[in-house]
Amino acid sequence: MAKAQAPDTSSISRLDQIKISQYFGCNTFSERTMRERLQKDVYKAYRQALKRGEALSPEVAKSVALAMKEWALEQGCTHFTHWFLPMTGATAEKHDAFITWDEPGVVIERFSGSQLIQGEPDASSFPSGGLRATFEARGYTAWDPASPAFIMEGPLGKTLCIPTAFVGYHGEALDHKVPLLRSMGVVSIAAKNALKHFGINAESVVAQCGPEQEYFAVDIDLAQQRPDLMFANRTLQGARPPKGQEMEDHYFGSIKARVLGFMQDVELECFKLGIPAKTRHNEVAPNQFEIAPIYEAANLASDHNQLLMEILKSVGERHSLAILLHEKPFAGVNGSGKHVNWSIATDEGQNLLEPGNTPEENLQFLYFLSATLKAIHTHGGLLRASIAFAGNDHRLGANEAPPAIMSAFLGAQLNHILDAIEKGAAADASSQKIIDLGIGNLPRIEKDATDRNRTSPFAFTGNKFEFRAVGSSQPIALPLTVINAAVAEALDDLNARLEAELKAGKEHKAAVLSVVRQAIQETKAIRFEGNGYSDEWKAEAERRGLPHAKDTVAALHIWEEAAVKAVLAKPGILSEGEQESRLHIRHEEYQKVIAIETQVLRQMAETQILPSVTADLGARADSLGKLAAAGISVPETLKAALQTQAALAGEAQARLAAMKAALAKAEALEDLHARTEAFGNEVNQSKHALREVLDALEDACDADLWPLPKYWQLLSPLV
Ligand code: ADP
Ligand code: MG
Repeated sequence: MAKAQAPDTSSISRLDQIKISQYFGCNTFSERTMRERLQKDVYKAYRQALKRGEALSPEVAKSVALAMKEWALEQGCTHFTHWFLPMTGATAEKHDAFITWDEPGVVIERFSGSQLIQGEPDASSFPSGGLRATFEARGYTAWDPASPAFIMEGPLGKTLCIPTAFVGYHGEALDHKVPLLRSMGVVSIAAKNALKHFGINAESVVAQCGPEQEYFAVDIDLAQQRPDLMFANRTLQGARPPKGQEMEDHYFGSIKARVLGFMQDVELECFKLGIPAKTRHNEVAPNQFEIAPIYEAANLASDHNQLLMEILKSVGERHSLAILLHEKPFAGVNGSGKHVNWSIATDEGQNLLEPGNTPEENLQFLYFLSATLKAIHTHGGLLRASIAFAGNDHRLGANEAPPAIMSAFLGAQLNHILDAIEKGAAADASSQKIIDLGIGNLPRIEKDATDRNRTSPFAFTGNKFEFRAVGSSQPIALPLTVINAAVAEALDDLNARLEAELKAGKEHKAAVLSVVRQAIQETKAIRFEGNGYSDEWKAEAERRGLPHAKDTVAALHIWEEAAVKAVLAKPGILSEGEQESRLHIRHEEYQKVIAIETQVLRQMAETQILPSVTADLGARADSLGKLAAAGISVPETLKAALQTQAALAGEAQARLAAMKAALAKAEALEDLHARTEAFGNEVNQSKHALREVLDALEDACDADLWPLPKYWQLLSPLV
C-alpha cells in the first residue's frame, strides 16, 4: 500500500488539481497514520482498548503521545489543545505550546502520555448547573480515542486538537460527549443481547448518524450593520419583502458562483479534517443552503457536526459571508433545522434497521423497528425536551418544521405489514403464517415510499429514522443520547418478554412475532401518516394522549418529571443530579437568550429606529411646510399619512416602555421556573408587540433614512 502522505493542501487553489481521496483526513491523526507510525503491539493494544471502550494503559498512551507529537511537529504544529464540548453548546479549547525547559534557557518540544490522556482546564467558567461548587472547580478532559486528533490551521501556525470528554472531580459529566458515549455503550449492550436471539454474536453494535445541516448565508457587510444579527444571531425586526420564498424558485436551484466557491472551500476544510461532506444544495428559503455528510458512528458524527458549524462560520468570513445557524433568522421565511438520521449497525456493518432477505432476518428487522417505535412512544416527551431551546421555539409547530408533538411515520408499505401482524393470530405463528403475513419476503423498503411526508418529526426512510425536529444551531449529542437510551430501554424490555416466552416453551419465530405484535399494539398512538402541520392532528394527538409541549418552558417541565429522568438515570447515562444540572443550564440559557434579544431590540428601537422615524417625520413635515409656503395646497391625505406614522411612532414608544418593564419584572423574579415562564410569556410577547409596530414603521419610512439593511437586501441573491 502506498504510504499516505499529506499533500501540501495550503497551495491548493483549485479542487480539480487533486483527488479528494489523496488528501482526505490529511489533517487528522487517523487510524491509517497510527497504523503506520505505531509499533505493532502498541497499535494492537490501542485498537483493542477502542473496541472494548476501555482506557489506554499508561504505556500505550505514552507511545501514542510520542507518535502523535512527532506527527504533529512534522505537520508544523506548535501548540496542542484538548478540544471539548462544554454545555454552552459551543466547543472549547485552551492551547498549550509543546515547549518545556530542557536546561535553563533552552526549550525543547515535549508532549507526554499523561498530557495526551488527561488535561485539567479551569472548569469554573463553564456552566455546570450547580454540579460543581466554585471551590471545587477542577474538571478533567480525557481523550476519546474513537475520535481522531486533528490539526487546526491558524494564520501563523497550526494547533493539534485532541477531542476529549469533560468530567468533574467526581466523574460527573460536564459536557455533551460523556452522556453520548455512555448511551452508545448502553444501546450496544441491549442490541447485542437482542441479536443473540437471532443467532448473531456481534462484538459491538454502533449507533450511527448522518446530520443534514441547514444554514443561511448573508453578505457580511450587511450583517454587520445589524446589531440583532451580530448579537442575537437573528433579525429581531424587519418588514417582509415584496417577494419572499413564495415563488419556490430557490430549492435545488442552481448554486450561484459566489456561494459555490464558499461551499467548495468548506468542503476542502472538511475533507482535510476527515469530515465526509457529501451533499450540497440550495434550500427552500432564499439564501438558505444545506450540507450533509456520509453517516458515521454517532460520537464521531457529533464531533464532526460541531467542527462543521465552526468551519462554516470561519470559511464564511473568508468569503465575506455571515453564516447564520440560527433556527429562525428571518420572520416569515422558513427557518433552519438539522435532520438527524439515526440507525444502529453491528461492528460488521449490518444495519439493524434494514429488512433482510430471509424470514428470520425480516423478523429481526421488525424486532428492532418495533423497539424504536416503543422508544419514541415511551419517551417522546424527553425527545421533545432534548431539542427544546429558545431558537427552536420559532420553528416547531409553525408549519415549516415538524410539530412539537412527537410521532413516527413509517409509510404505507410498513404500516400495512404492521397492521397485518397486529391483526394476525401471532400467538401460534408458524413459518407458514409468517409467509402469509407477508413478512417472509419483505421487500426492500424504498426510500421514496417513505420520504414523502415532510411533516413528521420522526420518519422511517428506508433503513434509518430521520429525526427532523432538531434545531440547526444545536449540538446533536443530546438528541442522539436520548434516542440511544430510549431504544436501549425498549430493547431490554422486548428482550425480557422474548426470553419469558421462550422459557414458557414457545417456538422461536412465534415468540418473536408475539413480542413484536405486543409492541405494535402498545405503540399505535405515535404512528401517524397524515399532515403533521394540521390542526386536526393536534386535536387527534391530544385524544391519543401524546405529550404536546408547545415551547421550551413546557418541554423542560416534562423533563423535570422523575419518571422521565429514569431512562437516562437507570442505565447510568446521566444521574438525576447530572440531569438536574443540565435542566438548570437550559433554564438559564433560555432566559439569557431572551434577555439578550430584548436588550438588543431595545437598543435598536431606542437608538436607531425611533430617531430615524422622527427625523423622517420632521423632514417630511418641513417639506409640507415648504409646499404650503410656496402656496401649494397640501392634500389632507399627505398630512394624514404623517399623522398615522407619528401615531405609530408613539405606539412604538409605549410598547418599548412596556417591554422594558416586562424585562425588569422577569429579571427580578427569584424563582428559576417563574423566571423562565415570565421570559417565555410576558417578555416574549412584549418583544413581539414592539416588533409589529417597528415593522409597520419601516414600511412607511423614507428608505434612505432607515438605519438598517432591509430583508430584501439581506436575502438578495449572493453575487
Ligand atoms: P435526504 O434525506 O436529504 O433525501 P439521504 O436520505 O440520502 O438524503 O441522506 C441524508 C443523510 O442520511 C446523510 O447524511 C446520510 O449519510 C444519512 N444516512 C444514510 N443512511 C444512514 C444510516 N443507515 N444511518 C444514519 N444515517 C444515514
Ligand atoms: Mg433527509
